[in-house]
Amino acid sequence: MEIAIIAHDGKKAEMVQFLNEQAEILHKNEITLVATGTTGSKVEKAGFVVTKLLSGPYGGDAQIAARVAEGKCNMVLFFRDPLEKHPHEPDIFMLMRLCDVHDIPLATNPATATLLLRAIK
Ligand code: PGA
Repeated sequence: MEIAIIAHDGKKAEMVQFLNEQAEILHKNEITLVATGTTGSKVEKAGFVVTKLLSGPYGGDAQIAARVAEGKCNMVLFFRDPLEKHPHEPDIFMLMRLCDVHDIPLATNPATATLLLRAIK
């Protein structure tokens, strides 16, 4: 099972904390992580194995959207920062739209992400 993770700058620390809390579920269920570039680097530093794509503003969200469309990605955890503006807003909407088109679970905050991972367990 492949899970894509993305966190805006104001949410990266929360993403690392979330993954640490969920490490056992991730490990036991043999989950593969893919991430946008900078999120991936932070998560890697915390000790997780993750495939890093481009940084979000350079096309990373679009790459994850493509994986969703191609049926490669089974879940998206996208910790958005609703208090900041993002230059790649169109890519973000495209990703969320394609999750809905392909009926892929999408969590945009830690509370929802926790519920989704509990469902896997
Ligand atoms: P980043 O991208 O992980 O490369 O910072 C996240 C985003 O802003 O979409």
